[in-house]
Amino acid sequence: MPVWGIVNQKGGVGKTTTAVNLAAGLARRGCRTLLVDADPQGNATTGLGIDKTAVSATLYDVFAALVDDPDAPDALRKAVVRTPENLDAVPATLDLSGAEAVLMNAVGKELLLRDALSPVRDEYDWIIIDAPPSLGLLTVNILAASDRVLVPMQCEFYALEGLSQLIKTIEVVKRRINPDLEIVKVLLTMHDPRNRLNNQVVREVEDYFGPKVSRTVIPRNIRLSEAPSFGEPAIARFPESKGAAAYVKFVDEVLSECGAR
Ligand code: ATP
Ligand code: MG
Repeated sequence: MPVWGIVNQKGGVGKTTTAVNLAAGLARRGCRTLLVDADPQGNATTGLGIDKTAVSATLYDVFAALVDDPDAPDALRKAVVRTPENLDAVPATLDLSGAEAVLMNAVGKELLLRDALSPVRDEYDWIIIDAPPSLGLLTVNILAASDRVLVPMQCEFYALEGLSQLIKTIEVVKRRINPDLEIVKVLLTMHDPRNRLNNQVVREVEDYFGPKVSRTVIPRNIRLSEAPSFGEPAIARFPESKGAAAYVKFVDEVLSECGAR
């Protein structure tokens, strides 16, 4: 039951689009899948059509419950919402922006997400965590709770900028908290094959990461950006689109290479 964090502190690189379509795609392939929205922006929550005003609990409440009572085994289960995609999700709303303050005073402040997930880990084949665009305590919690990191990268000029910070953070978490942590894949997103600069970035990322770069590249495709406004993953709303097809291909790549873990 792999736990994958979708992490890149750069904003707008396709983390949420990847988290939502990967999780929904795994669920479609029959995997019991949980998507954890760990970003106060709550974009994955919205993208799955979950009404933020109607949720009874969010990831913030899970953290608060665990700070109150470290033995609250049902803290996370209470926040799980079932979506029509046959996918379970832990929603996030803006209240999660207060989580760092709550975590800061907790003993083992980096480990609350890992603790929260541990009672449900065996109930899922995959757990996917959507990270915020920062390397703060929330992201450190995600890295501590994940077996593997998936790094989406936008095919633009600044793609590799900030990468050393990300890798350094992963290395520190690996050394001090989570020895098995590794980047499993780098997924290139928003690719435009007609753009020479895009292709140059692809080559640079391949030079840097070698075989970790996913064989599937996600094209720039308007349907991927429209789907969230319908509250559905693109693979469900626009299955015929190039963007959805690429994500389905990516899901199958992940399942064939990493499914047995
Ligand atoms: P943040 O750092 O703010 O959480 P993010 O890394 O999660 O952002 P997304 O929200 O997935 O990035 O994508 C940023 C924007 O680009 C969104 O409007 C999304 O709909 C759009 N988008 C993502 N991937 C693609 C794509 N392949 N083609 C076209 N638009 C895309
Ligand atoms: Mg996002």
